[in-house]
Amino acid sequence: EALPADIRRLTQRRSDVLGESYRLFYREPVHLVKGQGQYLWDAEGKQYLDVYNNVASIGHCHPAVIAAVHDQMQKLNTHTRYLHERILDYTDELLATLPAEIDRAMYMCTGSEANDLAMRVAYAYSGGTGIIVSQEAYHGTSYLTSGASPALGSGQPLAPTTRLVSPPDRYRVDAEDLGAWFANEIQRQIDDLAAHGIKFAGFLADSIFSSDGVLPGPPGVLKQAIDVVHANGGIFIADEVQPGFARTGDAFWGFARHGVVPDVVTTGKPMGNGIPVSGLLAKREVLAAFSDQVPYFNTFGGNPVAMAAAQAVLTTIKEENLQAHSQKVGAKVLAELAALQKTHECVGDVRGAGLFIGFELVSERQNKTPDKALALDVIEALRQERVLTSVAGPHGNVLKLRPPLAFQEADIDWLVGALDRCLTRLGR
Ligand code: PMP
Repeated sequence: EALPADIRRLTQRRSDVLGESYRLFYREPVHLVKGQGQYLWDAEGKQYLDVYNNVASIGHCHPAVIAAVHDQMQKLNTHTRYLHERILDYTDELLATLPAEIDRAMYMCTGSEANDLAMRVAYAYSGGTGIIVSQEAYHGTSYLTSGASPALGSGQPLAPTTRLVSPPDRYRVDAEDLGAWFANEIQRQIDDLAAHGIKFAGFLADSIFSSDGVLPGPPGVLKQAIDVVHANGGIFIADEVQPGFARTGDAFWGFARHGVVPDVVTTGKPMGNGIPVSGLLAKREVLAAFSDQVPYFNTFGGNPVAMAAAQAVLTTIKEENLQAHSQKVGAKVLAELAALQKTHECVGDVRGAGLFIGFELVSERQNKTPDKALALDVIEALRQERVLTSVAGPHGNVLKLRPPLAFQEADIDWLVGALDRCLTRLGR
């Protein structure tokens, strides 16, 4: 099918100057020009339902963020080596959302930088370099984090100090006690590191295993694994770039669903609702091993404008009750999506926490055979229904449904109706 002329032109211009590392979504790329709340508009004025964006987490172009950024921008923005209240006021508010043991905050601009620093902290604290991540993890684009990001594929070699564990996937792992099973996975990899003369430094994980296919697991499933991590002298780094900031409904932070306290928490995407700001939150005694030795300066990290955006996000989550909203609306979406299993044989599993849902497509429900081709066709068909989302998981067969928290009950029909029609048309 021929692409519309303007889309073809822009796509060509893009690859001419940006190169081939940049990948676009969709066979016919979407050219967006406007966003508001949970909606997006393309250059032709067509409206889309955004079911993928956790960057504009409290809603595209949220007026509170716009006002806060505009106001601070008019007064001052500078690098971060002068005194300023914003960074301190925000830190007080942010630390109040975390377990009391986590009492230090550092700021940067991307999730990659936060995880990169977290790995250096793990090295300094443990004296080791062995890092365990999940099978399909993505933790960033820096040298250290890309070496711990199997999601980047075979073109990106893993560091020799990286070890992979299968995630606690309730749908695919047949274990009576999934928590014990997962703790054993971790122990096996710690042992393998030791067998290769590599001292264990830490377990770095996104507690909802987004890129592994969105695996919320039963609450508490990580508990035994984190005990194993600590018993072996390592730290647990909770990568909250995806599940953080009220996304999972049950809790403000993804790790809290599992009743564990991380040693280090990293944040990104939703923190500034689109303004680049990320953070590393840590227990002071864990951080000290690094921060007592090495200076850290991040030119833009924690600047007054970034902090203004982040403050507006936190305030809005509270004022608009977005955590309870995510829990309530997420549960309704989940129930309606689960109902599609009755009429569509290809829906293998539907799972989620709050407004973070995985919808797994299989060619055979009995054998749970992943159907990647169908998932890709469904994504394209949903685009035609003007519903934007994407896929995740090692087999690329899980629809990742993660709308801005501005998603409303009234939007459910659009999403579920569109999915129902697409599956009727394409499903096997
Ligand atoms: N961790 C996770 C879990 C992520 O999803 C991402 C981004 N996809 C990152 C880290 C890296 O964040 P950034 O792109 O802001 O560097």
